[in-house]
Amino acid sequence: MSDEIEKVVIIGSGPAGHTAAVYAARANLNPLMFEGFMAGGVAAGGQLTTTTEVENYPGFPEGVDGTELMDRMRKQSTRFGTRIHTETVESIDLSKRPFRVKSTDREVLAQTVIITTGATAKRLFIKGEDRLWQAGISACAVCDGALPIYRQKVLIVVGGGDTAVEEATHLTKFGSKVVVVHRRNELRASKIMQKRLLDNPKVEMMWDSAVEEALGDKALTAVRVKNLKTGAVTDVAAGGLFYAIGHVPNTAFLAGQLTLDETGYIVTKPGTTQTSVEGCFAAGDVQDKQWRQAVTAAGTGCMAALEAERFIHEHH
Ligand code: FAD
Ligand code: NDP
Repeated sequence: MSDEIEKVVIIGSGPAGHTAAVYAARANLNPLMFEGFMAGGVAAGGQLTTTTEVENYPGFPEGVDGTELMDRMRKQSTRFGTRIHTETVESIDLSKRPFRVKSTDREVLAQTVIITTGATAKRLFIKGEDRLWQAGISACAVCDGALPIYRQKVLIVVGGGDTAVEEATHLTKFGSKVVVVHRRNELRASKIMQKRLLDNPKVEMMWDSAVEEALGDKALTAVRVKNLKTGAVTDVAAGGLFYAIGHVPNTAFLAGQLTLDETGYIVTKPGTTQTSVEGCFAAGDVQDKQWRQAVTAAGTGCMAALEAERFIHEHH
């Protein structure tokens, strides 16, 4: 391990990580990024590399391919001098200063650490899912719902939490009908959001049910649904299948050193990116289970870099 102490180490390479890198680099903090190597099952560049068209990121009126957007962000980071290792961070020691960050290939010392490791949407891994992923199957209705392939089609949402209810309500703007398939006979979502959903005439519920297979050759045409009480199997003709069964934040490598909420997300002080350890900041989906958008991730990435800069000025 080198004795050199990095000013800013960024872990993760989605919109939050690269925005933090651009700001830190332009502030002459010479940031070092660990972009991950298929960390959390996602390629370097993050969740947007798993999608096609991104239509709601400002500055791209015609839309932009998710992977291209992330390539551009990476170029912007390196243009200002960010050094990037394509390695996954395996552990971190925040118990003493400087902090220690250990990846698959090296260990570095750091004055500040910015964690932007994101969250991974849970998938069902049903038959047909790999073939039809992003060809009718999505894990983000807010991102993809407005795409032409979903217009005036029957859209199926799986899940019964706040995300499922919010996404199903959102999809009623685009689909001819929205069918919510839930494995139990009551929703987990908050009562007020449930009411909004159940009062919507475009919404139909399939209780005590599970999706078993996605059907269609090049695009989704139907979904096989099984009633878990009766065992009856129905093929529901549909043009969209949206998973809303939760996300897993990529925080296991922290090994309990930061305060996390009950579902594993990093807790930040409201209105800031400060974690429970001074000098360690968190940005993007790893600390946000509500908005989960590229632009909000980028916004908090900017905040984290500015807060790290202020911390370094005050403490070093
Ligand atoms: P992520 O994008 O999750 O990136 C985190 C990165 O960190 C990953 O590359 C991961 O491999 C890496 N990493 C994880 N652990 C480690 C580790 N230990 N060491 C090193 N690296 C690590 N949002 C929109 O605004 N518009 C859209 O159209 C849109 N479409 C979407 C489509 C899909 C299919 C999905 C899944 C999401 C979509 N989103 C969209 C949401 C958006 O992608 C996320 O909100 C955003 O990417 C979050 O950015 P992030 O920087 O927090 O983390
Ligand atoms: P949740 O974990 O709350 O809900 C996941 C849902 O998916 C549950 O209904 C669960 O069923 C179901 N599910 C999980 N795994 C499977 C599976 N393998 N097969 C079928 N169904 C499955 O996740 P959310 O993303 O909905 O919410 C996460 C957190 O974010 C919550 O705290 C939520 O309150 C918050 N949130 C708040 C919002 C808001 O206030 N506007 C918006 C979005 C999220 P079961 O109920 O049977 O366990």
